Amino acid sequence: MHAAQKGRKAVERVHDFAAKLQQPSLWPKVVDYVRWQRALRKAQQDGKQLPEMPDIAPLSINLDLTTACNYACDHCIDWDILNSKEKHADDELRASIERMAERGLRSVILIGGGEPTLYPGFVDFVAFLKKLSLSVSVVTNGSRGDRILAAAPHFTKGDWVRLSLDSGSNDVFQRMHHPSKKSLTLDEICSWVKKIKTANSDLEMGFSFVITWVGGSRGDVKIVENIHEMVMASKRASDAMFDYISFKPFLERQENGAEVMDPAKTEAELQAVVARIQSNLDEARASVRADFKVLASTNLRVLMSGTWKDYTRQPKTCHMQMLRQVVTPLGTYNCPAHRGVPKAMLGDKDVWAVPPAAQHETTRLLKDFDASVECGEVTCLYNSTNWWLEELVNASADLPDVAPGVEQRDWFL
Ligand code: SF4
Repeated sequence: MHAAQKGRKAVERVHDFAAKLQQPSLWPKVVDYVRWQRALRKAQQDGKQLPEMPDIAPLSINLDLTTACNYACDHCIDWDILNSKEKHADDELRASIERMAERGLRSVILIGGGEPTLYPGFVDFVAFLKKLSLSVSVVTNGSRGDRILAAAPHFTKGDWVRLSLDSGSNDVFQRMHHPSKKSLTLDEICSWVKKIKTANSDLEMGFSFVITWVGGSRGDVKIVENIHEMVMASKRASDAMFDYISFKPFLERQENGAEVMDPAKTEAELQAVVARIQSNLDEARASVRADFKVLASTNLRVLMSGTWKDYTRQPKTCHMQMLRQVVTPLGTYNCPAHRGVPKAMLGDKDVWAVPPAAQHETTRLLKDFDASVECGEVTCLYNSTNWWLEELVNASADLPDVAPGVEQRDWFL
């Protein structure tokens, strides 16, 4: 089996980005991009004038609506960029999104550095995105269930909301997240889910759990351990009418700003941790509703199978930085793993309001950002997709105009 294909076997379906890119609704833009990359490399080889990037935008973005947050989580990966003074101007942000949608944008993940539901006009903004026929998902801390409920009627099938809760008990929830409203409990947060599902049963609701164990740290702050609450959290999520729980390992920021997984840093023996996680997953799966899913994220799977190092060997050119970008109040970046990192910045937050500028900046980063170095420690979820795109660029056979894949209407990258 080919290396790129082997990599694809290990990933969750939601992370099989190569399959997603072969859907008829996304494939034509992939073809435009690959043909341009081929022409660019040929012109470079021949010393000819370099062709301009075609008039395309990323197919999917992570959009940080705000850097404001009402929690102070010990394990927060975006700690350094939270609560900055920078803000989006709502009309400029909308203009930028409209320009992108005209050029191929299909999905928006509302996420942080910050808590998206705190954005003034969050509900209206979701309605605006849905009017553009975009797929929309939200990653939230769950503190504003009222706003998710108000936005619920706007979502359509395939959209999802994921709550980052990381705990099974109120005590661990509060010790991990330090909500600014001291009385906020996990019970209260989970009580919104039934109401949201009643308002719109098409909206998929997820419970996200970043597993922490003794030894993980953010700078000098020792994190709270929650590995013993995996089963409790699964039962709670199942009872509260979530559709699934997803477990991920704790990530840290390197000195260069990249998000990395560093299992060697654990004080506990990694093997013992992995065995504990596996037995918790087994017990969790035996304790939940039949239609409730207990998922191990791709990062967790590769940590447990000992193959995580394979995902740190990236091609020099990261093609995904064209197909998926990150828009934040601090600027536009090439990748969620490099949010807020100056080297990974394409331009300011409204760079896509003026498409030629954004395309020039993307062309610049495609050339200058050496992923084999900058992401050499990152367990990159896009690793096999990047190698697959690199093969397409290097291949000589013409690309088929007819999409090789089946339409799943899953446009999140
Ligand atoms: S190689 Fe992976 S981690 Fe690096 S910029 Fe690309 S997608 Fe992000």
